[in-house]
Amino acid sequence: MFSHQAHQAVFGAAIVAASLAFLAPPSVSEERAEPQTLFTNVNVFDGTSDTLAEGMSVLVEGNLIKKVAKGEIRARDDATVIDGGERTLMPGLHDMHTHISIFRPVAGDNRIDMSPFLVGAVAAARAEGMLMNGFTLIRDIGGPAKYIQRAIDAGVVVGPRVLPTENFVTQTSGHGDFRNRTDPNPNIDVRGSTNYIDEYYSCFADGPTEIRRCIREQLGKGATQIKIFTGGGVASEKDPLHSIQYTPEEVQVAVQTAAQWKTYVSAHAFTDASIRLAVENGVQVIEHGPLMTEDSAKLMAEKGTWLVPSVAAVLALDMDNFKKISSPATYAKGQMLLDGVPKEMEYAVKHGVKMAFGTDLLADWEGAVAYDNDANEEFVWLAKFMPNVDALRMATGNAGELHALSGPNTPYQDGPTGVVKEGAYADLLLVDGNPLEDIEIMTEPGKNFRIIMKDGVVYKNTLLADAINLELKQKLLKATPPHLRFYGDYN
Ligand SMILES: [Zn+2]
Repeated sequence: MFSHQAHQAVFGAAIVAASLAFLAPPSVSEERAEPQTLFTNVNVFDGTSDTLAEGMSVLVEGNLIKKVAKGEIRARDDATVIDGGERTLMPGLHDMHTHISIFRPVAGDNRIDMSPFLVGAVAAARAEGMLMNGFTLIRDIGGPAKYIQRAIDAGVVVGPRVLPTENFVTQTSGHGDFRNRTDPNPNIDVRGSTNYIDEYYSCFADGPTEIRRCIREQLGKGATQIKIFTGGGVASEKDPLHSIQYTPEEVQVAVQTAAQWKTYVSAHAFTDASIRLAVENGVQVIEHGPLMTEDSAKLMAEKGTWLVPSVAAVLALDMDNFKKISSPATYAKGQMLLDGVPKEMEYAVKHGVKMAFGTDLLADWEGAVAYDNDANEEFVWLAKFMPNVDALRMATGNAGELHALSGPNTPYQDGPTGVVKEGAYADLLLVDGNPLEDIEIMTEPGKNFRIIMKDGVVYKNTLLADAINLELKQKLLKATPPHLRFYGDYN
């Protein structure tokens, strides 16, 4: 059997990424051991530090990082050894604001003709695309996501880890109320609407009793956090942006109900009044926040309230096209946000509000997979307001910290995510170049993300294209499950 040293002697600087265990039957003790992957010669961005740690080795055993050290680490003889060639090894990315099962338009055509079968099929395709863009974890912040989490975690579908929120909790005529104006209210007129969107997107809740019921329903379905709306939004037509949604009492009830399940409430809030309503009554994460004042940024920093700003969704908007597809009222909402976001980011950065990376990309279902490829552009937009390393931290170390707010409700309990350290999940990217110096690297995952590992499993490896030994590549081809071959150049 080849040893680690033998690989290097035979192939020199060439990349050798192979479990050669198939060359000889494993001994009984090796059979029981968790597989090891050893990254050598990598510069590590650990998700929290300001700089890269150079000349490092990282040993993965099973689904966890076992050791991180400068120089060499001893691994078992049967370990897969990957010479990182001084590339950057960093945590897998987290997108903390996605809707994997929601497509535009959220009312109208999709309301008339949408089925869980179509949604599930598209979500599975999106999940695979997201992982291939480097996202090893998504926090799905509204809409059905538990089923796709189950399929991914079972290994049936390729995709990231998923933190589901399930149905939004919305007041009647709030931002989560996508009914046509002539539709009955399922809580008042018709119990149990059969419409897909009514069933899976929102739970209408007015007053403490209904809020408790709606939240408990989502928690029972497997939600890892709860989403409410404390003010108007853009995607819905009925609620004006200026509307305040929920009373302080209702927000407190939501927070208390989630806290009893050891999790938290996140609030969609655009206007300053809706941000204040949420923050002052115990909400722990503000989604969007474009019209935040400087005073509110200070308050959020003081209270440790998180902000997931999703800036590209606003700043990269093609306003000419947006005008064509929107009503005048919706277009005006978009313009207000465009003016607000730069100030929001200035205040948040100035006062040190804790921030995590989120994209909030919504497209029609036919275009959703392609549109998800824009997710990585968020890094470049964020870097207009902060150092590159802070933008990267938002998607790694910070996001992992936010993930941990779900407490015992997250299914990923073996270790932290978003960091490269001993005991953390082995969700890793091996990246060409140094994204701390050049953030544009993050926008071309197909080219620059050479290895994508999740849960200790390599889902993409294009280093093999650089390997010089054809025979070895042919052996690897036989040893690689067919659905993973697509992402590596084994030909
Ligand atoms: Zn959203």
